[in-house]
Amino acid sequence: MIADNLKSVTQRIVRSCEKSDRHPSDVRLVCVTKEAGIDEIKEVLGSGVRDLGEARVKDALSKYREIGPSADWHLIGHLQANKAKDAVKIFSLIHSVDSLRLAKELDKEARKINKVQDILIQVNTSQEATKFGVAPAEVSGIFKEVVLYPNINIKGFMTIAPEVDDPELARPYFRMLREIKENINSMLNAQCSMLSMGMSNDFEVAIEEGSDIVRIGRAIFGVKGS
Ligand SMILES: *Cc1c(COP(=O)(O)O)cnc(C)c1O
Repeated sequence: MIADNLKSVTQRIVRSCEKSDRHPSDVRLVCVTKEAGIDEIKEVLGSGVRDLGEARVKDALSKYREIGPSADWHLIGHLQANKAKDAVKIFSLIHSVDSLRLAKELDKEARKINKVQDILIQVNTSQEATKFGVAPAEVSGIFKEVVLYPNINIKGFMTIAPEVDDPELARPYFRMLREIKENINSMLNAQCSMLSMGMSNDFEVAIEEGSDIVRIGRAIFGVKGS
């Protein structure tokens, strides 16, 4: 079932790329394994997936112990500054940097292990109180500081659209993130290209709006606990 789901998700990614004149190899699929077991993770890796997304450092660490560095590990959930030390050890990309304090801590911990940590700045495009992320108006301020940290490399931006029945309703938030990226790049003469946006319910619209990384769990592993 997982192999079939994966195939169908991949086909849908290809179709969305065709629709928006993009090349499918420009869109990376991060397989979100936060609700998947080790056997399921091994199955997707066997089907050619390379990128795994976890929401919590603790869960990722225990899975990493079994799976190892053959996969690229992505942290997609909120990160507390006191977990920065563990996070820099295993994640190739941290999607959820949402404060100066966290960025500073990651910089410090990455320096200790001689790593330059790739990150994305998470933007709360919908400004929902329940969501983490930097407010759109504050992104450039944070960016200007973090870009100076020697052991942090800002690759781009991440957002989570509101949960809506019709994925079209998520489009304005994806578009906003793309515009934030374009503004920052032209205003600050930066070259951050990556946009991490799109989940099981809305990844096609996200790709049409320029997403480079889609984070997909349920469409591959099924809906758990139901
Ligand atoms: C769980 C999660 C996903 C995957 O969501 P699905 O609906 O299962 O595809 C993507 N991004 C983040 C930040 C998540 O927490």
